[in-house]
Amino acid sequence: MEHMEGLCVTGCEQCPELVDSRSRIVNGVGPDDADLLFLGEAPGAKEDEGGEPFVGRSGSVLDDALREAGLARADVRITNCVRCRPPDNRDPTSDELSNCRGYLARELELVDPELIVTLGKVPSQHLLDRGVAITNESGSVVDARVGDASYRVLLSVHPAATLYDRSQREGFFETIARAADLSGLADSSDGQASLGDF
Ligand code: URA
Repeated sequence: MEHMEGLCVTGCEQCPELVDSRSRIVNGVGPDDADLLFLGEAPGAKEDEGGEPFVGRSGSVLDDALREAGLARADVRITNCVRCRPPDNRDPTSDELSNCRGYLARELELVDPELIVTLGKVPSQHLLDRGVAITNESGSVVDARVGDASYRVLLSVHPAATLYDRSQREGFFETIARAADLSGLADSSDGQASLGDF
């Protein structure tokens, strides 16, 4: 695929506004054979600066939830629907989402996770190709076709939602714990989830 080598996109210039607004292309991070993959919307300012998804305040919430589920960030793959920062952190347009879709499909095909967790409305709608009321549907497990493959998807609110509305925090943490369970990672981690083994 043009502009993609393995799991990394380089030198893509398909979206003129994003080429102007980005400092760099932010590729996914984490094991290339991860069982659990988190899918966000697009990089924000911190991600654009650091070159890694979810390293700002939302990322801290995600890290906390992973830790409480007995997982480390290094155990999972984290990527976005769109790999370049939109200007003023606006939502990616449908053209931008579709320009980046092939890269996402290829990443999913190569990593082949047991479970994808969509973080927020934009990635949920993008994978399911329908409107999603994410606060109501968070916690649901559905199948989604991307490219030629079908994936199990757990819908979740975006970690930033817990910063705007504290009451969403418990539900978000429960969804991440469920993701650890459904992907089979809860059993193999060294955290709380495996204390019963001793
Ligand atoms: N929000 C996202 O959706 N993705 C990131 O990488 C950071 C914040």
